[in-house]
Amino acid sequence: MANQKKRVLITGAAGFLGSHLCDRFLAEGFTVLGMDNFITGHKDNLHHLEGNPNFEFIEHDITKFVGIEGSLDYILHFASPASPIDYVKIPIQTLKVGSLGTHNLLGLAKAKDARILIASTSEVYGDPLVHPQPEDYFGNVNTIGPRGVYDEAKRFQESMVMAYHRFHGLETRIARIFNTYGPRMRLNDGRVVPAFIGQSLRGENLTIFGDGQQTRSFCYVDDLVEGVVRLLFSNYAEPVNLGNPDELSIIDFAHEILELAKSESKLDFMKLTENDPLQRQPDISLAKQLLNWTPKISRKEGIKHTFSYFAALPKEQLLRNEHKDFTTRNNEK
Ligand code: NAD
Repeated sequence: MANQKKRVLITGAAGFLGSHLCDRFLAEGFTVLGMDNFITGHKDNLHHLEGNPNFEFIEHDITKFVGIEGSLDYILHFASPASPIDYVKIPIQTLKVGSLGTHNLLGLAKAKDARILIASTSEVYGDPLVHPQPEDYFGNVNTIGPRGVYDEAKRFQESMVMAYHRFHGLETRIARIFNTYGPRMRLNDGRVVPAFIGQSLRGENLTIFGDGQQTRSFCYVDDLVEGVVRLLFSNYAEPVNLGNPDELSIIDFAHEILELAKSESKLDFMKLTENDPLQRQPDISLAKQLLNWTPKISRKEGIKHTFSYFAALPKEQLLRNEHKDFTTRNNEK
């Protein structure tokens, strides 16, 4: 028994972050059980794990009861639509996965006596009035705006996790994740990194919402995964920001992408999306002190890896462009 491998359940396993977490936990010698209903994820992200004896997969919607046979040591709850294009299209599912889905997983963690880490988000800070955002800032969220379905589901998720921790003594961890990017994102999911890379690879102009002065701070996926692992094995139950504080404006980022792609494309300016946060930068002092963690991969290096990943995709995938439909729809309002 003492030598038995530890078993971890990863929800959202077919998604961007979930699939990288599966890889990392398998590499660390765990048995990994992936779960996903493919609402925004894709089988391709797990293709390389087929036949791996330490990996199992269950197709399941976690908003329905989640029952697992056998023991579980850890749960990483990453299932949720995560990009504005998704949660605008599937608002009810977004609310349900953060609330009902999280409740189901907390019940499972309690039944199995497992430690659970949930993926929260910088969106709990809304359009922040404090900059950069430390964990004790309570946020500025429009509950009824189009993005409220995601932001509020994640805020509810945090409350429920803390209630299970305080009331049931469950071992819980909360990662407040800031913009993360890397291979296996969807090119057409509306998030700015794949959107700009996709547009530059297709030779299109890059779409900027508003004047492009709004800021973002991008974290490379390997750094994020390292932070999640350290948080899981820490003994801290309250939220911890994980992200890269290296902040830049969207317009400067667009120029970086055009330079990398050696592209002659121009910038197209469109109306700012409703409730799009104007600035975003994590205060990661707590993660530094608690987890001895800081992001190590520069934007230049991370974007280069990501660009090469997308450049190698089959052409028909590159030409599918939901982002365009999304921008058109937003400007019809
Ligand atoms: P993603 O869309 O690539 O992955 C999410 C996965 O969850 C998908 O595979 C989807 O099919 C699955 N899923 C959704 N609803 C489900 C349900 N009801 N049952 C089972 N599976 C379901 O998104 P991502 O970027 O990998 O995000 C993963 C998690 O990290 C999300 O919880 C997201 O809120 C959080 N997060 C991500 C970022 C980021 O920058 N990528 C930032 C903050 C928070």
